[in-house]
Amino acid sequence: MCARESARRFQTHGYWIRKCAACGHEFAELLRAEGHVDRVYGDGYFSGGEAGYSNYLAEEKLLRAAGRRYARLLAAHRPPGRLLDVGCAAGFVLSGFVDEGWSGVGVEPNASMVAHGRAAGLDLRVGTLETVDEPGGFDLISIVQVMAHFVSPMDALAAAARLTRPGGYWLIETWNRESWTRRLFGEKWHEYSPPSVLQWFSPESLTTAAARFGMELAARGRPAKWLHSDHAAELVRHKLAGGPLEPVARMATKLIPRGLPIPYPAEDLFWVLYRRV
Ligand SMILES: [Zn+2]
Repeated sequence: MCARESARRFQTHGYWIRKCAACGHEFAELLRAEGHVDRVYGDGYFSGGEAGYSNYLAEEKLLRAAGRRYARLLAAHRPPGRLLDVGCAAGFVLSGFVDEGWSGVGVEPNASMVAHGRAAGLDLRVGTLETVDEPGGFDLISIVQVMAHFVSPMDALAAAARLTRPGGYWLIETWNRESWTRRLFGEKWHEYSPPSVLQWFSPESLTTAAARFGMELAARGRPAKWLHSDHAAELVRHKLAGGPLEPVARMATKLIPRGLPIPYPAEDLFWVLYRRV
């Protein structure tokens, strides 16, 4: 992020996690960056479980509602305009924005996800942020649950900056390495999951990085994330298994009602809204 010295801190899933001595940014050491996106985001990522999704398409309602919530949040700052949703998968978050009057496109490396979204009438393109060629074409660039996946986050932000209109916005939602959840779990934090998750930010470090592209903090907060209760029970069990809180987890999973959307206390997530000055 700041191109200063970093050192190896610990190993997980066969990857070294490095930390920058100057800015505190944490990132996975990737020996083979070339072809990384194609290797990691095949169809298995969206249906194979583990670090990816057990069934991404089942999350449609919740992700679309998240898109609508973010669009309503944006309404306090500007009227609906043209949006680029980065790493849009099947376009569910984008659909939420469209519901609230936005128009725009999504870009996504997985062709099956793009085909799914196109069949629903969305303008989705196969590719990465760097392949979008509409300089200054967007009022908003949304990078929701994608920032942590970039091989080179500064290159991604540079590409976003080229595509942003004067006065335009960036909406970014990602994991918070300074959260209490991270402090509690340490190296066992569930979000240390390379090779899909590669970058661990804090709201401050991301804001410093965005400022280098002329982007100023307009608002920040924590997402109210909704999950299916079955998925939530599975996550609680998985996250706390083998740790000191396992008995609590066992009790909690019994208390979680099945088949309902429930709010997930996303203490280790944050969102930030930046405006181009
Ligand atoms: Zn740094």
